[in-house]
Amino acid sequence: MNLNFETTVVRGASGGDRHTGAISFPIYQSATFKHPALNESTGYDYSRLQNPTVEELEKTVALLENGRYGLAFATGLAAINCIVHLFKAGDHLVISEDLYGGTFRLFGSIYKELGIESTFVDTRDFLAVKDAIKENTKGIFIETPSNPSLRVTDIRGIGRIAKEKDLIFIVDNTFLTPYYQKPLDLGADLVIHSGTKYLGGHNDVLAGLIVAKDDRFIERLRYINMSTGATIGPFEAWLVLRGIKTLHIRLEKSEESAIVIANWLKEQDEVSDVYYTGLEEHEGYEVNKSQSTGFGTTLSFRVKDKKLVEKILKRVKVVSFAESLGGVDTLITYPFTQTHSEIPDDLRKRLGVDEYLLRLSVGIENIKDILDDLKQAIKGE
Ligand SMILES: *Cc1c(COP(=O)(O)O)cnc(C)c1O
Repeated sequence: MNLNFETTVVRGASGGDRHTGAISFPIYQSATFKHPALNESTGYDYSRLQNPTVEELEKTVALLENGRYGLAFATGLAAINCIVHLFKAGDHLVISEDLYGGTFRLFGSIYKELGIESTFVDTRDFLAVKDAIKENTKGIFIETPSNPSLRVTDIRGIGRIAKEKDLIFIVDNTFLTPYYQKPLDLGADLVIHSGTKYLGGHNDVLAGLIVAKDDRFIERLRYINMSTGATIGPFEAWLVLRGIKTLHIRLEKSEESAIVIANWLKEQDEVSDVYYTGLEEHEGYEVNKSQSTGFGTTLSFRVKDKKLVEKILKRVKVVSFAESLGGVDTLITYPFTQTHSEIPDDLRKRLGVDEYLLRLSVGIENIKDILDDLKQAIKGE
């Protein structure tokens, strides 16, 4: 039976435990598994290779992304790190310049030193992408909408370029999740997630995922994951499975509030710009609408007076001043010193990540309480 998204999130891939009928998929908290006899296995040997709870998470997210295979990791960055191992020294990648800070550090520093080269470009611009492709280019990595400037890249368009040049096309789908956007249906080869964000959804677990739609990559990725050991523990996998059960409900609620907050911020004298894909005047509104069914719950805004930043961060009470996004709690982040502190100055300037920019991840609290809090934080009332 072909189940709808909202049913799959609740049931997971297997709809409970086939051995006991447990509705909640059990946490198989075991490092190792008994062999029935020599050369026999239950299918499970050692939890760095495979674990039933982890497998349930992998299969569930694969179903949600319309992929065939999933792989779970200890963190989102561990998932991205695994993908980098598909490439080797001398290879080159084209990457969205507006990117999660940790991903930037991984490609721009760690792997650069090991000989994997990257060019960071504005992937909204197909010509810039084509110009950046060289003889040794092997992959394209994008984030859309991007972090923290909410730039929207046309996934289908980049998919066509990748296909034409035979490049591995990777999309970080953390911001919209498969509930709103399914990059594998739009031409991506691999989707990655920080499961720490919307999939986990409660700011209580770190996790990462890769989903692929064909066999070309998955055996290799599984082998790399098993060999490098960044596997997720069964309890963490279970927390993500539990978070996923309410993914659609949380996103709908948070998005409804995000739209109200974005429109409210727009009207405030203290605020000069609001960046949110749910605003019709947002430059990426149409492209985002053409490839997804929602806007997500993360928005950024710029204040006119940079001295106000410190005051807002000190005054917020319902909203928490903390890194991360995608959870039930509303968080406010200062990318300049937090998530994007290590991005080179000239690039930060080009992206508008400056001392005036704040990012909000809208949670599921009462909207009036969030608005009242932002109002007193911004106005000092
Ligand atoms: C947080 C984040 C990551 C990294 O994930 P971790 O779980 O923190 O390692 C990667 N991409 C995006 C878009 C993120 O927001």
